[in-house]
Amino acid sequence: MKERKKADLRSMEEQQMVDLAVEYGEKPFRGRQMFEWIHKKQVQDLGDMSNVPKLLLDQISERYMVSGVRIVEKQVSARQDAAKYLFSLADGSLVESVWMKYHHGNSVCVSSQVGCRMGCTFCASTLTGFIRNLTAGEMLSQIYEIQRETGQRVSNVIVMGMGEPLDNFDNLLCFIRLLSNEKGIRISQRNITVSTCGLVEQIRRLMEEKLQVTLAISLHAPNDEIRRKTMPVAKKYSMEEIFLACRDYIAYTGRRVTFEYSMIDGVNDGKAHAAELARRLKGMNCHVNLIPLNEVKERKTRRSKEENIRDFKIILEKNGINVTIRREMGSDIDAACGQLRNRFMQKGQ
Ligand code: SAH
Repeated sequence: MKERKKADLRSMEEQQMVDLAVEYGEKPFRGRQMFEWIHKKQVQDLGDMSNVPKLLLDQISERYMVSGVRIVEKQVSARQDAAKYLFSLADGSLVESVWMKYHHGNSVCVSSQVGCRMGCTFCASTLTGFIRNLTAGEMLSQIYEIQRETGQRVSNVIVMGMGEPLDNFDNLLCFIRLLSNEKGIRISQRNITVSTCGLVEQIRRLMEEKLQVTLAISLHAPNDEIRRKTMPVAKKYSMEEIFLACRDYIAYTGRRVTFEYSMIDGVNDGKAHAAELARRLKGMNCHVNLIPLNEVKERKTRRSKEENIRDFKIILEKNGINVTIRREMGSDIDAACGQLRNRFMQKGQ
């Protein structure tokens, strides 16, 4: 007989786990105990929950499991301040996560999907198409495993790995709630950033959840014409619609929005582009993060020249726009989203 697929306890919110304990005839606090084991002590084996009755655990394990990730490969940057992990999931799917050390604490960049369906022309994540969404538990497990492996606390999370997080909305929301739960790993929502290519309806849905997470928008262009050249999603939503949603997000949450701008040689990195961008962002409570493009072998797009990046930054600054150039970490570790996974898959494993 085919075994029924087990549901993931790591993707359940605290109240669901309390309800589960009650359903099995136990007191509600048993559910809270299990929640702590899974999210605070971060165990994966139900047998390790030493203060929970064995009979309950045996019954639960017939229908439930705890999701996890397994390290397939790890690359550490030369300066030891960044590492990239290739993880395999229970079904053999591969995803990537990046660990970064800053003086204010450690950050982890997590993947939200296996592959991606957004199709940006410079990005390695879409090369093999979309395979599936990650569950909340699988997103959390990337962080738990990195924390276990490094032995250091993670204090910031960015959902900027493989996948489009707002295309996996419900699981993302559950992930954020579990991440910031007082009884779990307790990462403050202010230390969580969600990056999107600009799915306007979902930005508004996120706003209505009244969370405190930082919204990052992958803009990568000063106007729709250029944006449509590299980002298919730009055919669906105009930048004006995105800016409108961002202005509402800022007003509603009081949080500053980040715009990511990957600098692509000869495409979006001219002085006139900088001036146009500055004009459009004027007066918005935002921050622009210039990212020197990570060149992906299979893609034609090339990285902007250093002087063009510098000039672009100066023009934004002169126009009163907050701007930084992303610190280059780990360009020696297949840093662009999806690169490590692609290289691994090409080896035929
Ligand atoms: N889908 C989400 C998050 C994943 S990608 C989004 O679009 O925001 C995280 C960021 O890296 C995005 O801004 C993405 O456009 C950018 N990116 C992808 N490939 C890149 C590359 N080769 N070089 C530089 N930035 C890249």
